[in-house]
Amino acid sequence: MRALSSSEMLQLWERGCGLHPLDQALLALAAASPGASLDSLADLPLGERNRALVRLHSDCFGSQIGGWVPCPACGEKLEFELDGAMLLSGSAATTNSVTIDGQSFRLPSSRDLALAAREIEPTHAALALVARCSLDPAAATRGWSPAQIEVIGEQMALADPLAEPRLSFACALCGHAWDELLDLAGFFWTEMEVQVRRVLREVHALARAYGWSETEILTLSEARRALYLDLVRAEMVRA
Ligand SMILES: [Zn+2]
Repeated sequence: MRALSSSEMLQLWERGCGLHPLDQALLALAAASPGASLDSLADLPLGERNRALVRLHSDCFGSQIGGWVPCPACGEKLEFELDGAMLLSGSAATTNSVTIDGQSFRLPSSRDLALAAREIEPTHAALALVARCSLDPAAATRGWSPAQIEVIGEQMALADPLAEPRLSFACALCGHAWDELLDLAGFFWTEMEVQVRRVLREVHALARAYGWSETEILTLSEARRALYLDLVRAEMVRA
Protein backbone atom coordinates (compact mmCIF):
# COMPACT_ATOMS: atom_id res chain seq x y z
CA MET A 1 0.00 0.00 0.00
CA ARG A 2 1.35 3.42 -0.94
CA ALA A 3 0.02 6.95 -1.36
CA LEU A 4 -1.42 7.79 -4.79
CA SER A 5 -0.01 10.71 -6.77
CA SER A 6 -2.33 13.42 -8.15
CA SER A 7 -2.00 11.88 -11.60
CA GLU A 8 -2.91 8.39 -10.31
CA MET A 9 -5.93 9.80 -8.46
CA LEU A 10 -7.16 11.44 -11.67
CA GLN A 11 -6.83 8.15 -13.55
CA LEU A 12 -8.53 6.24 -10.75
CA TRP A 13 -11.41 8.73 -10.54
CA GLU A 14 -11.92 8.59 -14.32
CA ARG A 15 -11.90 4.77 -14.33
CA GLY A 16 -14.21 4.43 -11.35
CA CYS A 17 -16.81 7.12 -12.14
CA GLY A 18 -20.27 5.59 -12.18
CA LEU A 19 -19.10 2.15 -11.00
CA HIS A 20 -20.55 0.32 -7.98
CA PRO A 21 -18.86 1.39 -4.68
CA LEU A 22 -17.55 -2.18 -4.26
CA ASP A 23 -15.72 -1.87 -7.58
CA GLN A 24 -14.50 1.66 -6.79
CA ALA A 25 -12.93 0.38 -3.56
CA LEU A 26 -11.18 -2.49 -5.35
CA LEU A 27 -9.86 -0.18 -8.10
CA ALA A 28 -8.45 2.19 -5.44
CA LEU A 29 -6.72 -0.65 -3.58
CA ALA A 30 -5.34 -2.10 -6.84
CA ALA A 31 -3.94 1.32 -7.84
CA ALA A 32 -2.12 1.57 -4.51
CA SER A 33 -0.95 -2.07 -4.36
CA PRO A 34 1.44 -2.81 -7.23
CA GLY A 35 1.49 -6.55 -7.90
CA ALA A 36 -1.94 -7.25 -6.35
CA SER A 37 -4.57 -8.31 -8.90
CA LEU A 38 -8.17 -7.12 -8.77
CA ASP A 39 -9.18 -10.77 -8.44
CA SER A 40 -7.07 -11.33 -5.32
CA LEU A 41 -8.33 -8.08 -3.77
CA ALA A 42 -11.95 -9.08 -4.52
CA ASP A 43 -11.40 -12.25 -2.48
CA LEU A 44 -10.15 -10.45 0.66
CA PRO A 45 -12.55 -10.76 3.61
CA LEU A 46 -14.41 -7.44 3.97
CA GLY A 47 -12.69 -6.55 7.23
CA GLU A 48 -9.29 -6.95 5.59
CA ARG A 49 -10.44 -4.85 2.62
CA ASN A 50 -11.60 -2.15 5.03
CA ARG A 51 -8.31 -2.22 6.93
CA ALA A 52 -6.51 -1.68 3.61
CA LEU A 53 -8.88 1.21 2.79
CA VAL A 54 -8.20 2.87 6.16
CA ARG A 55 -4.43 2.56 5.56
CA LEU A 56 -4.82 3.98 2.03
CA HIS A 57 -6.93 6.85 3.37
CA SER A 58 -4.22 7.57 5.93
CA ASP A 59 -1.44 7.48 3.29
CA CYS A 60 -3.33 9.78 0.89
CA PHE A 61 -5.28 12.17 3.13
CA GLY A 62 -4.07 11.71 6.72
CA SER A 63 -5.36 9.49 9.49
CA GLN A 64 -8.46 11.54 10.39
CA ILE A 65 -11.62 10.27 8.66
CA GLY A 66 -14.37 12.85 8.81
CA GLY A 67 -17.84 13.22 7.42
CA TRP A 68 -21.43 13.87 8.32
CA VAL A 69 -24.70 11.92 8.48
CA PRO A 70 -28.27 13.25 8.40
CA CYS A 71 -30.45 12.53 11.46
CA PRO A 72 -33.15 10.08 10.21
CA ALA A 73 -35.75 11.78 12.44
CA CYS A 74 -35.23 15.50 11.77
CA GLY A 75 -32.62 15.78 9.00
CA GLU A 76 -30.08 17.67 11.15
CA LYS A 77 -26.48 17.18 9.92
CA LEU A 78 -24.27 15.41 12.47
CA GLU A 79 -20.56 15.77 11.83
CA PHE A 80 -18.04 13.19 13.04
CA GLU A 81 -14.32 12.59 12.93
CA LEU A 82 -12.51 9.30 13.52
CA ASP A 83 -8.88 8.40 13.96
CA GLY A 84 -7.86 5.77 11.38
CA ALA A 85 -5.19 4.33 13.69
CA MET A 86 -7.82 3.82 16.39
CA LEU A 87 -10.09 2.04 13.89
CA LEU A 88 -7.25 -0.33 12.96
CA SER A 89 -6.20 -1.19 16.49
CA GLY A 90 -7.66 -4.48 17.59
CA SER A 91 -9.94 -4.79 14.57
CA ALA A 92 -8.24 -7.72 12.82
CA ALA A 93 -10.40 -10.78 12.14
CA THR A 94 -9.99 -13.41 14.84
CA THR A 95 -10.54 -16.29 12.42
CA ASN A 96 -11.12 -17.06 8.72
CA SER A 97 -14.39 -18.91 9.31
CA VAL A 98 -17.22 -19.31 11.80
CA THR A 99 -18.98 -22.52 12.84
CA ILE A 100 -22.65 -22.56 13.85
CA ASP A 101 -24.50 -25.80 14.73
CA GLY A 102 -21.65 -27.81 13.20
CA GLN A 103 -21.71 -25.90 9.89
CA SER A 104 -18.77 -23.75 8.85
CA PHE A 105 -18.78 -20.54 6.82
CA ARG A 106 -15.86 -18.47 5.58
CA LEU A 107 -15.90 -14.70 6.06
CA PRO A 108 -17.56 -12.86 3.14
CA SER A 109 -15.49 -10.97 0.57
CA SER A 110 -16.28 -8.11 -1.87
CA ARG A 111 -16.94 -10.73 -4.56
CA ASP A 112 -19.47 -12.53 -2.33
CA LEU A 113 -21.19 -9.24 -1.52
CA ALA A 114 -21.33 -8.19 -5.20
CA LEU A 115 -22.90 -11.51 -6.24
CA ALA A 116 -25.40 -11.44 -3.36
CA ALA A 117 -26.31 -7.83 -4.26
CA ARG A 118 -27.75 -9.08 -7.55
CA GLU A 119 -30.74 -10.33 -5.55
CA ILE A 120 -33.40 -7.62 -5.22
CA GLU A 121 -35.04 -8.98 -2.06
CA PRO A 122 -32.84 -8.44 1.04
CA THR A 123 -33.80 -11.88 2.41
CA HIS A 124 -32.75 -13.53 -0.87
CA ALA A 125 -29.49 -11.57 -0.83
CA ALA A 126 -28.73 -12.72 2.74
CA LEU A 127 -29.47 -16.34 1.77
CA ALA A 128 -27.27 -16.07 -1.35
CA LEU A 129 -24.41 -14.67 0.77
CA VAL A 130 -24.65 -17.47 3.33
CA ALA A 131 -24.83 -20.11 0.56
CA ARG A 132 -21.71 -18.70 -1.13
CA CYS A 133 -19.78 -18.68 2.13
CA SER A 134 -20.86 -22.15 3.25
CA LEU A 135 -17.92 -24.55 3.42
CA ASP A 136 -20.31 -27.51 3.20
CA PRO A 137 -21.69 -27.75 -0.37
CA ALA A 138 -24.45 -30.16 0.73
CA ALA A 139 -25.77 -27.66 3.31
CA ALA A 140 -26.60 -25.11 0.60
CA THR A 141 -29.19 -27.47 -0.90
CA ARG A 142 -30.90 -27.92 2.49
CA GLY A 143 -31.05 -24.14 3.07
CA TRP A 144 -31.24 -22.10 6.29
CA SER A 145 -34.09 -20.54 8.22
CA PRO A 146 -34.23 -16.69 8.57
CA ALA A 147 -33.28 -17.10 12.26
CA GLN A 148 -30.24 -19.21 11.34
CA ILE A 149 -29.19 -16.68 8.68
CA GLU A 150 -29.40 -13.91 11.29
CA VAL A 151 -27.19 -15.84 13.73
CA ILE A 152 -24.67 -16.67 10.98
CA GLY A 153 -24.51 -12.95 10.05
CA GLU A 154 -24.02 -11.95 13.70
CA GLN A 155 -21.20 -14.47 14.17
CA MET A 156 -19.49 -13.33 10.96
CA ALA A 157 -19.66 -9.70 12.16
CA LEU A 158 -18.21 -10.66 15.57
CA ALA A 159 -15.36 -12.61 13.94
CA ASP A 160 -14.45 -9.74 11.57
CA PRO A 161 -15.10 -6.48 13.48
CA LEU A 162 -14.12 -4.10 10.68
CA ALA A 163 -16.24 -5.87 8.03
CA GLU A 164 -19.28 -3.76 8.91
CA PRO A 165 -18.15 -1.07 11.36
CA ARG A 166 -21.04 0.82 12.91
CA LEU A 167 -21.10 4.19 14.65
CA SER A 168 -23.58 5.31 17.30
CA PHE A 169 -25.12 8.75 16.89
CA ALA A 170 -27.36 10.88 19.10
CA CYS A 171 -28.99 13.97 17.59
CA ALA A 172 -28.57 17.06 19.78
CA LEU A 173 -31.58 18.72 18.15
CA CYS A 174 -34.30 16.07 18.52
CA GLY A 175 -32.70 13.46 20.80
CA HIS A 176 -33.01 10.60 18.29
CA ALA A 177 -30.32 7.89 18.73
CA TRP A 178 -29.33 5.35 16.11
CA ASP A 179 -26.50 3.21 14.68
CA GLU A 180 -25.16 3.77 11.21
CA LEU A 181 -22.86 1.68 9.00
CA LEU A 182 -19.51 3.39 8.45
CA ASP A 183 -19.05 3.33 4.68
CA LEU A 184 -15.25 3.38 4.46
CA ALA A 185 -15.22 2.85 0.68
CA GLY A 186 -17.65 5.75 0.22
CA PHE A 187 -15.59 8.06 2.47
CA PHE A 188 -12.40 7.30 0.56
CA TRP A 189 -14.05 7.89 -2.81
CA THR A 190 -15.71 11.15 -1.71
CA GLU A 191 -12.45 12.49 -0.31
CA MET A 192 -10.64 11.52 -3.51
CA GLU A 193 -13.25 13.37 -5.60
CA VAL A 194 -12.65 16.51 -3.52
CA GLN A 195 -8.91 16.13 -4.13
CA VAL A 196 -9.41 15.52 -7.88
CA ARG A 197 -11.53 18.67 -8.21
CA ARG A 198 -8.86 20.68 -6.40
CA VAL A 199 -6.10 19.32 -8.66
CA LEU A 200 -8.13 20.02 -11.81
CA ARG A 201 -8.72 23.61 -10.67
CA GLU A 202 -4.96 23.95 -10.18
CA VAL A 203 -4.26 22.45 -13.62
CA HIS A 204 -6.79 24.88 -15.12
CA ALA A 205 -5.16 27.91 -13.45
CA LEU A 206 -1.59 26.94 -14.39
CA ALA A 207 -2.51 25.91 -17.95
CA ARG A 208 -4.14 29.31 -18.49
CA ALA A 209 -1.25 31.21 -16.98
CA TYR A 210 1.71 29.36 -18.52
CA GLY A 211 0.23 27.33 -21.40
CA TRP A 212 1.54 24.06 -19.91
CA SER A 213 -0.20 20.75 -20.68
CA GLU A 214 -2.01 18.73 -18.01
CA THR A 215 0.78 16.11 -18.10
CA GLU A 216 3.46 18.78 -17.60
CA ILE A 217 1.58 20.30 -14.66
CA LEU A 218 0.96 16.94 -12.99
CA THR A 219 4.64 16.01 -13.16
CA LEU A 220 5.43 19.03 -10.95
CA SER A 221 5.76 18.20 -7.27
CA GLU A 222 2.94 19.39 -4.98
CA ALA A 223 5.28 21.98 -3.46
CA ARG A 224 6.37 23.38 -6.81
CA ARG A 225 2.78 23.45 -8.10
CA ALA A 226 1.68 25.35 -4.97
CA LEU A 227 4.47 27.90 -5.45
CA TYR A 228 3.51 28.56 -9.09
CA LEU A 229 -0.13 28.92 -8.01
CA ASP A 230 0.91 31.51 -5.41
CA LEU A 231 2.71 33.46 -8.15
CA VAL A 232 -0.32 33.29 -10.46
CA ARG A 233 -2.66 34.45 -7.67
CA ALA A 234 -0.27 37.26 -6.69
CA GLU A 235 -0.28 38.52 -10.27
CA MET A 236 -4.09 38.36 -10.37
CA VAL A 237 -4.28 40.45 -7.18
CA ARG A 238 -1.85 43.04 -8.62
CA ALA A 239 -3.87 43.19 -11.85
ZN1 LIG B 1 -32.60 14.77 14.92
